[in-house]
Amino acid sequence: MDSKGFREAAISSIDEIINYYDNIGDRDVVSTVEPGYLRKLLPSEAPEAGEPWGDIQRDIEAKILPGITHWQHPGFHAFFPCATSYPSILGELYSSALSGACFNWICSPAVTELETIVLDWLAKLLGLPECFLSTGPTRGGGVIQGSASEAVLTAMVAARDKYLRETVPADLDEEAREDAIAHKRSRMVALATTMTHSSTKKAAIILGTRFKAVPVHAKDSYALTGPVLAAALADCRARGLEPFFLAATLGTTDTCAVDDFAGITSALADFVPAGSPGEVWVHVDAAYAGAALVCPEVQTATGINLVSGFHSFDMNMHKWLLTNFDASCLFVRDRNWFIQALSINQAVYSNAATDGGLVTDYREWQIPLGRRFRSLKIWFVLRSYGASGLQAYIRRTTQLGEDFASWVRDRPDLFEILTGPSFALTVFRMAGRTEDDTLEQRNAMTKALCEKINGTGKMWVTSTLLDGKFAIRMMTGVRLTEKEHVELAFKTFVDTAEDILKS
Ligand code: PLP
Repeated sequence: MDSKGFREAAISSIDEIINYYDNIGDRDVVSTVEPGYLRKLLPSEAPEAGEPWGDIQRDIEAKILPGITHWQHPGFHAFFPCATSYPSILGELYSSALSGACFNWICSPAVTELETIVLDWLAKLLGLPECFLSTGPTRGGGVIQGSASEAVLTAMVAARDKYLRETVPADLDEEAREDAIAHKRSRMVALATTMTHSSTKKAAIILGTRFKAVPVHAKDSYALTGPVLAAALADCRARGLEPFFLAATLGTTDTCAVDDFAGITSALADFVPAGSPGEVWVHVDAAYAGAALVCPEVQTATGINLVSGFHSFDMNMHKWLLTNFDASCLFVRDRNWFIQALSINQAVYSNAATDGGLVTDYREWQIPLGRRFRSLKIWFVLRSYGASGLQAYIRRTTQLGEDFASWVRDRPDLFEILTGPSFALTVFRMAGRTEDDTLEQRNAMTKALCEKINGTGKMWVTSTLLDGKFAIRMMTGVRLTEKEHVELAFKTFVDTAEDILKS
C-alpha cells in the first residue's frame, strides 16, 4: 500500500468507524456466533498474492463484526466499561505510525518524557499524594502498564525484593544468604481479601509466594477494615508466616467496595511500623473506580489522601476514563523500588544518557522490555476533555447508576439491592414471592431474570455470588449510555421480573 492507497483506505476506514459508532445501538450487544465460526469463513492459508484493501475492509462487516461483543454499546451494562473516545483512537493511530520498542529514553525521548509528564498530570487530577509524582519529595512517579494484572505483579516483584533486602542480613556469605532467602521466601505471604480481584492471587502464584484471602463481610459492605486486617496479620505471625504485601482495593470487582485506608494504616502500624525494615508493602488496586477520583468529592469520600503511606497505586484509564485499552497507570512512591528489583544491565542497552544517570528508562519499571507510545492517547484525552469534561462524564454516568438504584429501591415487591449504588454499579436480586422462599428459589429466579434480560440482545448484564446469593450487576458507565437506555433497562427488568413472579 503506497501513500495514496493509505490515504484512501484510511478515509474509508475512518468513515466506517464513525458509522459504526453512530449506529452501534442498532446492533445486539453480545455476539451470537458459535465457537469456531471464523474458521469456516476464512481460507486455511494466507493468500499467495496481496489483496486490494476494499476486499479486506469488506470482511470487517461481513466476518469480524458478527463475532464482536460491543463493549461501547449503550446497552452494555456488564463487568466494567472498557472506554474509548475519538481522541484516544487518534492517539492509537499516531502511536502505530510512530511504532518502536521504546524501552530506553534514547529509543525515543518524547515517548518517555511525555509519559512522565502526563502521569504527573493524572496523579494531580486524581488527588494522589505528592509522593506519587515524579517531581515529588520521594522520587516517585508513574509508568503505563498493559493491565492492572501486570501492575500488581510488578508491584509484588518490587515488594518481594524490598522485603528480602530489608530482612535478610547483608553480612552473610553468598551461600548462607541464598539459604536465608530461600527459607524466607517459603514463609512470605501476600495478603488480599475474598473480594480482591484474582490478579493479586495470580501474581502470588507467578512469584511462588503464599497467598491469603482475608474474608470480608456484608456488614462491612465487603470492605477490608482495620480490625479484620489486624486479626489476619496476627494469625499469620502466630503461624510463622511473614506478610510482605497487601492489596487494598478502591472499587472491588464484584461490588465496588472501598477498603478502609485509615483502618489499614493503623493495623499495619501496630504490626510493623511504616518505614521500618520488613514493613508490609501496600498496593492500591483502583483499576476501575480510580477514574472517579477526577472528581474532588470522590477524593474526599474515599480518603485518597490517606494512601501517602502506601507504596503503589494503580488505575486503568482504559476502564472508565475514555481511553482505549491498554492504559493501566501505575504509580510508585519511590522509583528505586522498581529499579532495584527489575533493572538488569546488558551491554547492548548501554548508552550515554542511561550510563550518565540522566534519564528515566522505563524498561526498569516493568516486566517486558519493549513498550509502545501509550502516553499519546492519554495526552489527547486529557487535553480534549479537560478536567471538567472528565468530571462531567464520571458524574453523569454515576448519576445514571443512582437513578437506576433508586427505581429498584422503589420496587421492593420485585427487587432487593445487595450493594450500591457505588461508582455506577448496583448489585441486586429478585425479591422472593413470599418470605418463605429459599435461597435456591431466589437464586433460580434471579438467574432466570438475568438470562431473559440478556436474551433480548439489547443489553448485557453480568452476575456474581455474594454469600451464596446470586446477584445481578448493573453498570451504567459506558460513554454512549444515556438516561433513556437505563430507563429501558429498568422497564425490561420490571416486565421480566413480573413475568417470572407470575409463572
Ligand atoms: N482489579 C480490579 C479491581 C478489577 O476490577 C479488574 C478487572 O475488572 C482488574 C484488577 C484486572 O484488570 P486488568 O484487565 O487491567 O488486568
